[in-house]
Amino acid sequence: MKFYSTNHKSPEVDFETALMRGLAEDGGLYMPQEWPRPFLQAHKVFKVHQVLKEFIDIPETDLKKIIKDAFSFPVPLKKLNKNLYILELFHGPTLSFKDFGARFMARAMDFFVARNQKLDARGKLNIIVATSGDTGSAVASAFYGLKNINVFILYPSKRISPLQEKQIATFGKNIFALEVKGDFDDCQKLAKQALSDTEIRKKINLSSANSINIGRLLPQMFYYFSGYQQFQSLNSKSYIPDPYFVVPSGNFGNLTAGLFAKKIGLPVKKFIAAVNINSGVPEYLKTGNLPIKETKMTFSNAMDVANPSNWARILDLYQNNLTAIKKDLEAITVSEAETKKTIGEVYKKYGYIADPHTAVGLAAAKKASLWLSSSFVVLATAHPAKFPEIVEKTIGKKVFLPSALRTASQKPQNSTLISKRYQDLSKLLLTESHDI
Ligand SMILES: *Cc1c(COP(=O)(O)O)cnc(C)c1O
Repeated sequence: MKFYSTNHKSPEVDFETALMRGLAEDGGLYMPQEWPRPFLQAHKVFKVHQVLKEFIDIPETDLKKIIKDAFSFPVPLKKLNKNLYILELFHGPTLSFKDFGARFMARAMDFFVARNQKLDARGKLNIIVATSGDTGSAVASAFYGLKNINVFILYPSKRISPLQEKQIATFGKNIFALEVKGDFDDCQKLAKQALSDTEIRKKINLSSANSINIGRLLPQMFYYFSGYQQFQSLNSKSYIPDPYFVVPSGNFGNLTAGLFAKKIGLPVKKFIAAVNINSGVPEYLKTGNLPIKETKMTFSNAMDVANPSNWARILDLYQNNLTAIKKDLEAITVSEAETKKTIGEVYKKYGYIADPHTAVGLAAAKKASLWLSSSFVVLATAHPAKFPEIVEKTIGKKVFLPSALRTASQKPQNSTLISKRYQDLSKLLLTESHDI
């Protein structure tokens, strides 16, 4: 399949090129040209490779291996009550849903780099990624130790949790942690600038790994189908209408993957984007304008994004038609007080411990249930132990820290502090990418 740019000023490319480039040359985001609906009858068992092979030119046996290796952990759907379900996406090695996209993407890139090296002795690949928290650790963990790929991770100084910083900055080897004196939008700007810098790209082989990379989004369709199938089996005894999927959103990558899944046949009533006080998307749906705002810090810090980078994809998918977008998407803002209250309430009522991002989703589902009737499947995007400060204070109980996190929290940290000036970054990229 071919992929086009949302800016429509670069040529169409194959999956390998879209994956390796990340961002199209015209600064746009890659989109699949077609929406195959291969085997998707709602009640059939969904095989992830059957769908992905429609989009991705990797031989089927290799693709199956990549999928098996990347998705090596469970995705359980938990029922809280008749109308409220939680799809837990945090059972991967870094305990957030970003493991799905990052692990698939790392293995797909590794596949192509290895294949090309056999063909023409090409050099290493350098990945650059901006993170508001969980992307960095998922990407670092997914790429760590790969011989032919270096990873540069940009994260905002003092704006991610100490544990998140440990998960990014303790790997070493081929993983470079860069602490930027600025906020997430500054990091994102730097990454975008490097990726569209044609001079630097003549010298080094550069790509991205943010949720803007199509190689992360496509595999994320998988868990929507898995969630839907589990929803069906839990309710096989009675007729139940298709659910709403509630997606805690920041850069809207997760939600875009959901809209992709719908395009190829996922039976879903509608999506609900749950956002904290940062995103302007609820306002966009009301007024047709995305407001320009400063990023504010919240408990759900991986969603502290004022300007969602995947919004361009959603606009493209619906040809800028606000009415069409509103048919598939609602957006609900959740305040800090509501997030905290929800963590407490859900624990008291169901004994379920939600992390602050999942709590934004649960709060949005509760609000939506006032005017929408049907079931809600809330995506749980992170493990509560990643955010002990707020979770423990709210529920009055210690949260068990999984062993992967305990190990990271004891390792020494190794990151480089840089300013938000692009020259600092480009200099560093040119030196570091050569001498490893
Ligand atoms: C990244 C992240 C989000 C937001 O996902 P987007 O795809 O950027 O919308 C939500 N929750 C957690 C825990 C995250 O790490």
